[in-house]
Amino acid sequence: MNTTQEPATILVVEDEPKLARLLADYLRAAAYEPVIVERGDQALAAVAEHRPALMLLDLNLPGMDGIEVCRALRRHSDLPVVMVTARVEEIDRLLGLELGADDYICKPFSPREVIARVRAVLRRGEARRGGPGPEAVVEIDAESRRVVVGGRPVSLTAVEFGLLAALVERPGRVFSRAELLDRIYDDWRDVSDRAVDSHVKNLRRKLDDALPGRTLIHSVYGVGYRYEPEPASG
Ligand code: CA
Repeated sequence: MNTTQEPATILVVEDEPKLARLLADYLRAAAYEPVIVERGDQALAAVAEHRPALMLLDLNLPGMDGIEVCRALRRHSDLPVVMVTARVEEIDRLLGLELGADDYICKPFSPREVIARVRAVLRRGEARRGGPGPEAVVEIDAESRRVVVGGRPVSLTAVEFGLLAALVERPGRVFSRAELLDRIYDDWRDVSDRAVDSHVKNLRRKLDDALPGRTLIHSVYGVGYRYEPEPASG
């Protein structure tokens, strides 16, 4: 970490004062600079004023809800957004709306979990800007449909290839099973969510053969899957 850098500003859009203060305390302890706004209709002005590195955005807000804030923001900005929701079932609906949020956290959460997710999203952004960094452990050639994992060629079925390509295209983004089905089948009315799970299981086994001990595809409870290589250990 570059210690000469100023602390990254994190905009917290949260109308519960206690929760906002708690988040701010934890962010400060993690060397971030929190800015709190309590209304959705103040969020975009705060982005312009404070130029945050990331926005923690509650879904239910006075003035303008989190969905509207995210939509309005995405018209002109790719600022990382972590959405905070009250119910895990809500996340699936939000994914379907394709808001372009970078991650989702469900209440109640531990502040520690929030900090970990904020760090992960910011790190992903840095990796994107810095080009293929150490995170580029999976290489996919869409034309030849060749896949190389950790330097080793991996042979995948067409469905496994489609799954992996969809996930790797957006590291860290959570895909619902329905979204993944959409990407891999032209007509998936007869295909069950369980089928996705079973394809992902096979895909994971092949990835683990090529790169043992590194988790690349993560299950997101109640939602689906996301691709995010864990840092290599040692
Ligand atoms: Ca709220």
